[in-house]
Order: sequence, then structure tokens, then C-alpha cells
Amino acid sequence: MKSYRSVSESETLPTGSRYCHGPASTEYSAWAIGDVASWRNTVGQQVRVEHWSNVAEQARVLAPALLGAEPPAAVTVPYFWSDQYDVKIQCLGEPAAGDIVHLVEDDGRKFLAYFERDGVVTAVVGAGLPGKVMKTRAKIAAGAPIAEVLA
Ligand SMILES: Cc1cc2nc3c(=O)[nH]c(=O)nc-3n(C[C@H](O)[C@H](O)[C@H](O)COP(=O)(O)OP(=O)(O)OC[C@H]3O[C@@H](n4cnc5c(N)ncnc54)[C@H](O)[C@@H]3O)c2cc1C
Repeated sequence: MKSYRSVSESETLPTGSRYCHGPASTEYSAWAIGDVASWRNTVGQQVRVEHWSNVAEQARVLAPALLGAEPPAAVTVPYFWSDQYDVKIQCLGEPAAGDIVHLVEDDGRKFLAYFERDGVVTAVVGAGLPGKVMKTRAKIAAGAPIAEVLA
């Protein structure tokens, strides 16, 4: 009899991914990605990210896993955007309620804010400043010191 188990319940995808932990497995014949799936993030929280680009990022991990191959080593930074009339609101990373917020730009319509935890940049949230938001991706992936981001 085959076992059926989703990513939301287990650690079935290969190590090296931000999304999933544990060894590759051919034991299971049903896999889940997208809104329906959750995973344990790097700080041990069980999370779901119900956003569009997240599905594609998970597929990049799942496809090699299904073939028994190593997943890409690159760290994935969670991302979403929302177009509100002519203003694009974006969030990269994983902001948390206890993070220190550095509001570095705010003209009443456009803004840019960096989130800091333990001296490290965890996320950026912006409105109307897509270039500046996306430039922060590498620093979040690398866990850069907040001082480097604010410089
Ligand atoms: C109104 C709205 C606005 C959004 N705006 C944004 C945004 O601005 N930015 C962003 O990042 N994300 C946004 N999202 C979230 C984003 O759309 C989802 O995170 C993403 O589509 C999830 O992809 P998925 O493949 O997991 O699920 P889905 O895209 O929901 O795909 C699931 C598919 O399965 C099909 N299906 C369901 N049941 C069955 C069945 N029994 N048999 C066969 N097929 C079935 C469905 O018809 C659907 O096509 C928005 C969502 C909504 C609802």
C-alpha cells in the first residue's frame, strides 16, 4: 500500500531548501506545494505563505525532489506584492511582530521600511519603490547586518 503525505504534515523534501527539511524520499506518492502546503522555516516555525511567487519557488524544490535529485541550494526569500491602484506594495522576507522597524523613506504615499531582528535584516516592506525593495533580496538571503543595509 502506498503512503500519502503532504509537505504540510511532514519533512519530506530534501535538505538545503528554506521550505522543507529532511531527507529526500520516494516513500510518498502525493506531494503538496502552494497555498495548501506549510513547511518548517529556518527558525523552526511551521508556516504557510499564500502568495503567488511562493508556489513557483516551491516547485523549484519539489521537481528535483520528485526525481530524486538535489534541490537548488539557493535560499528562497518569501515575497508578495499587491497593486493598490497605481501603488505597488511589496514585502520581501519574514517580518515578525517583535522586529525593529527602520522607516527610511516616507513621503506620505511612497515608503520603504527595513525590519531588524538581532542586528540582522529580516525583511523589507515598501510602497511605490519596487527597485529599492527588490535590491534588498540578496541582503535578506545572506542575513546581512542591518548596519550594512542602512548605510
Ligand atoms: C483575490 C486574490 C488576489 C490575490 N492577489 C495576490 C497578489 O496580489 N499577490 C500574490 O502574491 N498573491 C495573491 N493572491 C494569492 C495567490 O493567488 C495564491 O497564493 C496562489 O494562486 C496559490 O497558488 P496555488 O497553486 O497554491 O493555488 P490556486 O492558484 O488556487 O490553484 C489551485 C487550482 O486547483 C483547482 N482545483 C481546486 N479543486 C480542484 C479539484 N477538486 N480538482 C481539480 N482542480 C481543482 C482550482 O480550480 C485552481 O485552479 C491572491 C489571491 C486571491 C484569491
